[in-house]
Amino acid sequence: MPRIALVTGGSRGIGRAIALNLGATGHRVAVNYNSSADAADAVVAEITGAGGEAIAVGGDVGNEAAVVAMIARVSADLGPVEVLVNNAGITRDDLLLRMGADAWDSVVETNLRSVYLCSRAALRGMLKARWGRIISVTSVSGLSGNPGQANYAAAKAGIVGFTKSVAKEVGKRGITVNCVAPGFVQTDMTAGLGDDVKDAALGSIALGRLGTPEEIAGAVGYLASDDASYVTGQVLVVDGGLAI
Ligand code: NAP
Repeated sequence: MPRIALVTGGSRGIGRAIALNLGATGHRVAVNYNSSADAADAVVAEITGAGGEAIAVGGDVGNEAAVVAMIARVSADLGPVEVLVNNAGITRDDLLLRMGADAWDSVVETNLRSVYLCSRAALRGMLKARWGRIISVTSVSGLSGNPGQANYAAAKAGIVGFTKSVAKEVGKRGITVNCVAPGFVQTDMTAGLGDDVKDAALGSIALGRLGTPEEIAGAVGYLASDDASYVTGQVLVVDGGLAI
C-alpha cells in the first residue's frame, strides 16, 4: 500500500534511485537534500512527471534543528512520515593515524547521528499510527571493515546496532526497522576511487561488476512494501557477492 515516504539524501545516487522507486510504486515522496537543491527538484519533477506526488525538503540530517524542521515540513505538506529511508551519507577516508578528529566527527554526524535524529523525529507519528517503516542504508564496510574507512565503517556498524535495538523497541507497535548494506555501487561517492581500488573490488565481487543505484533501491522498495511485513531487525546485503 502506498505511503508517505521521506528519503534523506534523495537528490543524488542511491537516494535518488530510492525516491524514484518509491514514487513509481505510488508513495508520496519527500526528497531531502543538503546542498543539491537543483538535483532534488529534478527528482521531484521526474516523480510528478510520471503522475506521482513529491516535494523537495532541504536540511542537514546531522543537525537536530534542521531535522525537526524537515519532519514538520513533510508532515504539513504531505502528512506524517510513514516510511523513513535514512540514506544520506558521506565518506572522508584516510588511514587511522592520519585521520583527523574533524573527519571522524563529520562522518559519524552525517552517517550515524542523522539516523538517530531522523528516526526519533519520525517515530512519534509512526507510534501514533501504529505503523511505520524505518530503513537505513548501511554498508558492507560496516560489516567487514575496510582499510582507510575506520570512521565510515564505525558509523555504518553503528547503524546495524541501532536498527536491531529499535526493532526490538517498536516491533509490537507495528513498526519494522531494517537496513540495506550495499557493496560497491556506481555513484558520485565511488566515482573518485582509483582504478586500482576498483579493480581490486571487482576481483572480490562474485557477480564481477559494480552495482547500480536501482539495484539498491529495489531492496529498499521491498522492505517498504507489504511483502516485508514480517521482516524486522535485518541487514539485507546487496553487494553482488562481495562479502561472502
Ligand atoms: P552520493 O552519490 O555521494 O550521494 C549522497 C547523498 O547524500 C546526496 O543526495 C547528498 O545530498 C546527501 N547528503 C550528504 N550529506 C548530507 C547531509 N548532511 N544532509 C542531507 N543530505 C546529505 O552517495 P551514494 O553513493 O548515493 O550513497 C548513499 C548512501 O549509500 C550513503 O549512506 C552511503 O554511505 C551508502 N553506500 C554507498 C555505497 C556506494 O558504493 N556508493 C556503498 C555502500 C553504502 P547533497 O548533494 O544535497 O549534499
